[in-house]
Amino acid sequence: MYQKPNQRLCNQTCIVTGASSGIGKAVALAMGKDGANVVVNYITQPEVAEAVAQEITDMKLGGRGIAIKADVSKEDQVEKMFETTVKEFGTVDILIANAGLQRDAAFHEMTLAQWQMVIDVNLTGQFLCARAAIREFLRRGMRTDVSKALGKIIHMSSVHEIIPWAGHANYAASKGAIVMLMQSLAQEYGPSKIRVNSIAPGAIQTPINKDAWESKSALDELNKLIPYKRIGQPSDIGSAAVWLATDESDYISGTTLFVDGAMTCYPGFTTNG
Ligand code: NAD
Repeated sequence: MYQKPNQRLCNQTCIVTGASSGIGKAVALAMGKDGANVVVNYITQPEVAEAVAQEITDMKLGGRGIAIKADVSKEDQVEKMFETTVKEFGTVDILIANAGLQRDAAFHEMTLAQWQMVIDVNLTGQFLCARAAIREFLRRGMRTDVSKALGKIIHMSSVHEIIPWAGHANYAASKGAIVMLMQSLAQEYGPSKIRVNSIAPGAIQTPINKDAWESKSALDELNKLIPYKRIGQPSDIGSAAVWLATDESDYISGTTLFVDGAMTCYPGFTTNG
């Protein structure tokens, strides 16, 4: 059923936040296909999270899946999730800080609650998870039998870490901040052999941006922004995330990998501007 698994992540444990839908779910499954144990974090849709975890275990490719509920914006819940993971699998090797949301509004109408919610989940959530991961990597120490790195962190950013987004100032600000978080961590913990990178998806077909692909006219509009002329699929991010977590990318740290069908390549200039 699963063709030619690479199993590059055997004996490694990966936490994927926000993994009961969209990109997180695809990343969790991709990690499982490469042999990792996977913690499928969720806050809603427990039945989907459980099914994803079960699917990973059923692959019989070396890893097991478990679902853990935790709100990534809450310190105690993040700490508990890491504790449970260590109890279950011994340690954590890879963090995919993926959970995120939008609360869109014209800026002059944006409430503090809308601003705060997005910053709490998209930025503070990534801080809390990255901090817990780094503490665990340092506690556990090097395992040269499984990886050249002490640990790997992948922040799920967005093309909006560099593309401004009218009507979504809170979201764009949260993703812009991820660049400096990620690069500061790569700089601070490089000497400890921790690799820290981001993935910046373009338009990926998930529930978060349903309005942009639900109708043919919306999809046609969207494709004007994508030189490669197709909307991205969650699995496009899954395969990129797995590669960034393996030793094949061992010299890559402190960088953002744009997975966007060239959306960041000024598509308006395709026909000479
Ligand atoms: P999605 O809505 O399908 O997934 C987001 C997940 O995060 C959901 O499972 C949700 O339950 C979870 N989540 C929200 N708040 C949480 C919290 N407090 N604690 C734990 N989990 C929480 O959307 P998606 O497109 O899969 O988005 C995943 C990530 O990718 C987000 O960070 C998003 O900003 C980013 N992204 C998505 C796109 C895209 O086009 N879909 C583009 C760029 C970046």
